[in-house]
Amino acid sequence: MPLKKLEKPTKKMSEKKVRVRFAPSPTGPLHIGGVRTALYNYLFAKQNGGDMILRIEDTDSNRYVPGAEDYIIESLEWLGIKFDEGVRYGGNYGPYRQSERRDIYKGYVNQLLDASKAYIAFDTPEELDAKRAEIQNFQYDASTRLGMRNSLTLSKEEVDELINNGNQYVVRIKIEPDENVIVNDLIRGEVVINSSILDDKVLYKSADELPTYHLANIVDDHLMEVTHVIRGEEWLPSAPLHVLLYRAFDWQAPEFAHLPLLLKPDGNGKLSKRDGDRLGFPVFPLEWIDPKTGDLSSGYREAGYLPEAVINFLALLGWNPGNNQEIMNMDELINLFSLVHCSKSGAKFDYEKGKWFNHKYIQSTSNEVLAEMFEPILAEKSVSAPRETIVKIISLVKERVSFVKELWDQSSFFFVAPTSYDEKTRKKRWKEDSADMMTQLMAVLSGVENFSSENTEAIVKNWIEENGYHLGNIMNAFRLALVGEGKGPHIFDITEILGKEETLRRINNAIVALS
Ligand code: GLU
Repeated sequence: MPLKKLEKPTKKMSEKKVRVRFAPSPTGPLHIGGVRTALYNYLFAKQNGGDMILRIEDTDSNRYVPGAEDYIIESLEWLGIKFDEGVRYGGNYGPYRQSERRDIYKGYVNQLLDASKAYIAFDTPEELDAKRAEIQNFQYDASTRLGMRNSLTLSKEEVDELINNGNQYVVRIKIEPDENVIVNDLIRGEVVINSSILDDKVLYKSADELPTYHLANIVDDHLMEVTHVIRGEEWLPSAPLHVLLYRAFDWQAPEFAHLPLLLKPDGNGKLSKRDGDRLGFPVFPLEWIDPKTGDLSSGYREAGYLPEAVINFLALLGWNPGNNQEIMNMDELINLFSLVHCSKSGAKFDYEKGKWFNHKYIQSTSNEVLAEMFEPILAEKSVSAPRETIVKIISLVKERVSFVKELWDQSSFFFVAPTSYDEKTRKKRWKEDSADMMTQLMAVLSGVENFSSENTEAIVKNWIEENGYHLGNIMNAFRLALVGEGKGPHIFDITEILGKEETLRRINNAIVALS
């Protein structure tokens, strides 16, 4: 009786400890779409008590940009996206930079060659060009590979000789044609692709002794025991090849989730680096200076965004909690996030919504913390005030701002007395009798002992009432004298902060300047 074939005791991915990775290539500053990918990986890992790995995919040395790795790490640290292991963080599965894993990949390339799942190809760029000219829509695959210069068409001796003579070669995967390849995507469901449309992708190049992205990516995901590959939609076309590679190695493939594209604000096409410059908003987390051209791209941090606001904003670009809740901090996001609730269709990058989130987060940030952030701006303007005064000022104006730097526009008059008066406001609000009224007001204010908002307000209003004066006219002229224009918070809150002496001085200045 034939023995029953033993089943490999493989655990289902869903039963293993969740391990995800963020695997950027250091080819420039991390795009905001990449930040969202990192965030979703992080939320998923934390929700499942899993690990989050940072792997740097730097096998393409031509596209390597110095400073990009530091930039990626600094960006994610600023945003509070933390890694459990990886480049700079260490761990038991390193090294985590692909350029430091050459020897590992070599062994796996050989394994595929030995199993005839891959082959060596010597075709030069010129030969490939000639084929492209000869055959329309040429693709290196089952229908053409036997007409090319490779280890399937050359003898073992010829292949060895070519290699020994120093000829460069590549290793290609041998894809069997006409087979349905199934990618099970947690967001998109079952994606089926016929293998005949895939080409025999290059897995390794002898010239730089490095694998290509595809091989390195899946070898590392396997060795690092990644259970879930969560990445941008632009990688979906690579997924069938990856499934075939896992199969070629007889490895269990991880679960896949391909996130929806980030679209331009008008929904027409993919959000690009240039859209930021064109439409005037950052598409990078931090400012970036191109090391070659010196060009500067703006960043969310420098534009005055709070990291929590950026996180909340990005979390909702492609996912929602299934109700109308919009304000969620990292812990709430970790609780609520779900891959199956990610949308399949692209998410419009609604920059205005980003500002709205920042406004909301500014409102819920304590005045003390905002004061700390505002102080460097005040120093730049060469003004200062005791911390408690700054805190008070912030409490009066914060409602009107979406960014810390806007606090200055809303509050500069607290620190600097008006030197000119807004013409329009002056015409409308400085009446014929204003100078007289303001002179009388000065006399009233001079007698006020306790300059608290409530007390001064009560005294001034009482004076107005007793004399039957027009409240609006007096208040308008008063405000113009203190602020220089028609804006600002409650007037007696302003006088409380300015104090008696400064209040009187400003009224006097206005009388001199405006009469
Ligand atoms: N290195 C790829 C990138 O730059 C990673 C793709 C993946 O996550 O598999 O996005």
